[in-house]
Amino acid sequence: MRRLHRWGDSWEFQLVRKPLEDGLARVGGDEFTVLLEDVRNPSDAIRVAQRMQSKLALPFDIRGQQIVITASIGVASSGTSYSMAEELLRDAEIAMYRAKRAGKARCEVFDPTMHSTAVGRLKLETDLRRGLENGELIAYYQPIISLITGNITGFEALSRWRRPEGIVPPAEFIPVADETGLIQPINRLMMREACHQLRTWQSQFRCDPPLTMSVNVSPRQFADPELSNEIWLVLKETGVSPSTLNLEITETIAMSDADRALFVLSEIKALGVCLSVDDFGTGYSSLSRLPRFPVDALKIDRVFISDMSTNRGNHEIVRLIINLAHNIGLKVVAEGTEKEDQINELRRLGCEMAQGFLYSPPVSAEAAFGLLMRNYEGSFAT
Ligand code: C2E
Ligand code: MG
Ligand code: MG
Repeated sequence: MRRLHRWGDSWEFQLVRKPLEDGLARVGGDEFTVLLEDVRNPSDAIRVAQRMQSKLALPFDIRGQQIVITASIGVASSGTSYSMAEELLRDAEIAMYRAKRAGKARCEVFDPTMHSTAVGRLKLETDLRRGLENGELIAYYQPIISLITGNITGFEALSRWRRPEGIVPPAEFIPVADETGLIQPINRLMMREACHQLRTWQSQFRCDPPLTMSVNVSPRQFADPELSNEIWLVLKETGVSPSTLNLEITETIAMSDADRALFVLSEIKALGVCLSVDDFGTGYSSLSRLPRFPVDALKIDRVFISDMSTNRGNHEIVRLIINLAHNIGLKVVAEGTEKEDQINELRRLGCEMAQGFLYSPPVSAEAAFGLLMRNYEGSFAT
């Protein structure tokens, strides 16, 4: 039922609910709330959610374009523990965010542990924001080794959060950073710090070819139209030669929207920067598109390398990736090499580079300098 109300000098319509009538409201942006009356148990609400999802799954025709949308749904049931409507809405929202994180088009029912998890995430986000301002986000460096010469060819910069209680690995904060958008300032910082560091090492160690630096690009960063401009500014500021900077993009980022990805990669490539496909083999790849992408190298994911000596299937995948890469003119880096026999086999298969704990885990800039000294002492310039 619609009713006309007077607010000050203006009139507006208000949706008025009759008792025991379900209601739908737009909370803001792309969020909607559905109020179901007289629900006896959560499975009734789940059934309604599933009906909504199946209706939404049908394509909408908008000016001749077929649009498909999905919805993540969170369910919370009112109970005696709630005294305010806001509390019920808050819990439905927490469950909805859980559904979003678990993948698209899902439905989750709120349970009280979600509340403590959400509070924990909020605290992590606040701490991370403060940590970023206080300079607690730092770069660690893992060497990448040439399997032809045995020398360090360059490093991959990997972020670490230096907290008073110890070093936090990226798996514990990158997902929160990605969700909240904090990943963008983190990545900007990483790129700038890594390029400054590279410039210093390049002037200290006159290697031929010069040392390189690999930096990871997150999906959010890849979607930012300012990305290539930012890279250009960092290169200008640090004086690093573009061909010695290498950006790592996962195959899922590269392949999910192929036309846009091709445009962005070409824009970055036009700066003279190198590009690698990270964690190759674990994501979703369209092999027919790969030759069109302006990438320079594939990084074979650790899952294939770890047991390639004992698992014939994975050995075959590694051999196939190396052959595929070479046939389309790309180099190959093997990730997660921990054993000598893996290195021998990779060398036999023609893999050019390796990165793994056998050589060194990611280390601080000072420790990485020590690795360079051990490798290139003769060419160290003071
Ligand atoms: P990645 O880019 O594939 O980096 C390689 C990861 O494998 C690193 O984990 C490294 O420590 C680990 N690793 C290397 N060799 C070995 C090995 O021999 N054995 C084992 N068990 N692990 C090995 P890390 O540093 O924890 O980073 C994990 C992921 O987090 C990275 O995977 C990358 O996707 C992401 N990441 C790290 N730093 C950043 C960053 O600054 N920005 C973005 N966007 N992502 C980052
Ligand atoms: Mg990487
Ligand atoms: Mg990787």
